[in-house]
Amino acid sequence: MSSGDTLNPAERLRLLQDEYLVPGAGQRAERVSKSTEPGTPIRLAVFDHMRESVGEVVALAASMRENQAPSTAPPAKADSIYRWLVEETDHLDAARQQARDVVIYRQGLEHAIVMGDSKVIRRHSCPNCVTWGLIWDRVHEEVVCLNRHCADDDGQHTTWTLKQLAEDHIARRNNRAARAT
Ligand SMILES: [Zn+2]
Repeated sequence: MSSGDTLNPAERLRLLQDEYLVPGAGQRAERVSKSTEPGTPIRLAVFDHMRESVGEVVALAASMRENQAPSTAPPAKADSIYRWLVEETDHLDAARQQARDVVIYRQGLEHAIVMGDSKVIRRHSCPNCVTWGLIWDRVHEEVVCLNRHCADDDGQHTTWTLKQLAEDHIARRNNRAARAT
């Protein structure tokens, strides 16, 4: 579990469902009526994002289990999907568990960005120069390192995908864990 003000991927997914998608029956009805018009496209985008995220997790579980049927069906509640994925794959070797954790972590970053919280990127140092100058480029949908010493010879800033940022984060976390034992 994450600490402090950071939410883990499941908590972010729950927040998307509760606060950004469609409020459940009887909940926050006043907010629905007020924001129906301008909110509709955003909510569809959130819906698509959540459906794609859950679909990716279910497909990943199937491919990691090499066509063995899952021991339990995917949970109906979206925010239980990561716990389910971990339970379905916790018998696999460390490399595959690491690849799985990268997907979960990357989805957590994506959830935050869908919620407009791109500050989540700043909590990571650059995988190349290890300084704290990363920002989210909303137009190109990539992470940019602002350190000019990290730029290439033509002055082009180093850029990263969310997948690369997640790979770097999980690899470092696992290295720290390995050193601590
Ligand atoms: Zn850098």
